[in-house]
Amino acid sequence: MARIAFIGLGNMGGGMAANLAKAGHEVVAFDLAEAALAKAEANGCTRAGSAAEAVANAEAVVTMLPAGKHVRQVYEASVIGTAPSSAILIDCSTIDVATAREEIGKAEAKGYQMVDAPVSGGIAAAEGGTLTFMVGGTDDAFERARPFLEQMGKAVIHAGGAGAGQAAKICNNMLLGASMVATCETFVMAQRLGLDPQTFFDIASKASGQCWSMTTYCPLPGVGPQTPADRGYEGGFAAALMLKDLRLAMEAAESVDAYTPMGAHAEELYTRFAESLGGGGKDFSAIIKMLDDSWHA
Ligand code: NAD
Repeated sequence: MARIAFIGLGNMGGGMAANLAKAGHEVVAFDLAEAALAKAEANGCTRAGSAAEAVANAEAVVTMLPAGKHVRQVYEASVIGTAPSSAILIDCSTIDVATAREEIGKAEAKGYQMVDAPVSGGIAAAEGGTLTFMVGGTDDAFERARPFLEQMGKAVIHAGGAGAGQAAKICNNMLLGASMVATCETFVMAQRLGLDPQTFFDIASKASGQCWSMTTYCPLPGVGPQTPADRGYEGGFAAALMLKDLRLAMEAAESVDAYTPMGAHAEELYTRFAESLGGGGKDFSAIIKMLDDSWHA
């Protein structure tokens, strides 16, 4: 069993750190928020007074932070040059590809092995240990990170070199955002054309229009399997987080001169829904209520 430093014990990191502790590791945890630290302690982690204290003597460092600027700050101030250079560094946050590559480059220059390992799956998957990890880094770094990731997830996939995990994550979520908008507008139109939504679901699920946003995550309550739509669009994947990922996707598209008109339009629509109309806290499928004019913030 290993001594693992875990930094960032929020909605996602809290459950992930608890699963590592449950697997028998010594998890030394740090977060800026007292409540998050107390919860981690109750879940079997040891509290550290700072990120630097957490990483001292660590064999692995796992971070789950909000955005690129937090990852840069934590790695540059408290991990690189502070953790033993034998520690494997694993950043699970969703951040921009450029920052991920930069931080891995800086870590490697100081003799560390590091991967970017963002996740698919929400808070329930983090708590249940059923996340999917998309990992970027060298073969050696991937093999060293894999056993720890396997204790927090159901699938661990090597996406390629440094930053490839982040690239896979934002490409996937750009497709998801665009397909959710397309699913929502289609159901609004189908109903206005007089189609029964369940009947249309049954037809499209077996026809060429079928996609995950419809068959697994239908944005209409009472149609298809149980989804956040059946719980008033609570829980699930917040529209604000979808917007965050679409913004990262647009930044990445620009950096490689990729023409992504559907992704760009999805970003515009989620900006309107999550920010202008105040829907950021709802599940991302709630955007159907903006498209059918039934959204009242
Ligand atoms: P969160 O805001 O709940 O947690 C982030 C934690 O990091 C907070 O507890 C905060 O106090 C802590 N933190 C910030 N700066 C810190 C610092 N300098 N040192 C120590 N701790 C610090 O966010 P979350 O929902 O857990 O998301 C974490 C990451 O996972 C994000 O990048 C997000 O995009 C990604 N993600 C989230 C979900 C989801 O459903 N919530 C799903 C997939 C991926």
